[in-house]
Amino acid sequence: MHLELQESDYKKLNEHAASCWPEEACALLIGLETASGIRAISRIEIARNIASDPQRFFEVDPACRIRLEKELRQRDEYILGIFHSHPDGVARPSDTDAQRIYEKDMSWLIASADNEGITEIGAFHPATKYGFDNARLTIRQDRKSGNG
Ligand SMILES: [Zn+2]
Repeated sequence: MHLELQESDYKKLNEHAASCWPEEACALLIGLETASGIRAISRIEIARNIASDPQRFFEVDPACRIRLEKELRQRDEYILGIFHSHPDGVARPSDTDAQRIYEKDMSWLIASADNEGITEIGAFHPATKYGFDNARLTIRQDRKSGNG
């Protein structure tokens, strides 16, 4: 799996991770799969972490997800992944993350973060059996910007 993230969206995730620290930050990744099989993220939706212990776990606010699903129904984009941060942790899935793979077609972006933002970010995709496979992540300049 190969994911592509726009620079502006990376900056949003970075700011969000910093503002949530020392709690885990989370967001939903929206986009589509290109003909070449790359999952191009066209925007991100910041979501509230409603976990009862947000310093150690994350749980995306289901209201956010339902609202998005409704909004995307008329479009060709869809929710293709999920982002969350590990405050002062590593940019790799934890055992808890592996236990909480509920959707096999969702890609995961995981960042280690401190109070200033992301220090490292990694992309992962649920493996066929258990846990995650590494995925590729490219951060590219925004397409929507004009000349120069
Ligand atoms: Zn995690």
